[in-house]
Amino acid sequence: MKCQLCDNWFYQETIFGNLFEFPQICAECQRKFKAEPKIESYPFSYGVLDHIYLYSDIQINAKQKHYLGEKHVEFFLMISGKRLNQAILLFIDDQMYNSFSEWFPFLKPFGSIGIMSLTRYDFDGFMNFF
Ligand SMILES: [Zn+2]
Repeated sequence: MKCQLCDNWFYQETIFGNLFEFPQICAECQRKFKAEPKIESYPFSYGVLDHIYLYSDIQINAKQKHYLGEKHVEFFLMISGKRLNQAILLFIDDQMYNSFSEWFPFLKPFGSIGIMSLTRYDFDGFMNFF
């Protein structure tokens, strides 16, 4: 079978337990792309920005982001359904991150803001917007 993340061919022995279930990713990618949810909080004058992400210190290309985004959609829906203390909860990607300085000032007055993403984004460079 061809791994959906690394495009390498891999073999998995067929046993009764996986007879009707075909693995989509190889064992190495299962280990490498194991999701570890983390939260980082950035206090600012109006409240707190909470950044919830699944992967840190890992390079993920566009195809892998698409696959992992679909794979973890239930996680993000669960987080959004928890009704944490955030007034606003956003899912951001590279494009949203790159335009942070353009949209964040409009959300700032809401106080508690939650940002979800697949990968960790560094907001230290945006401290002058907080
Ligand atoms: Zn793989």
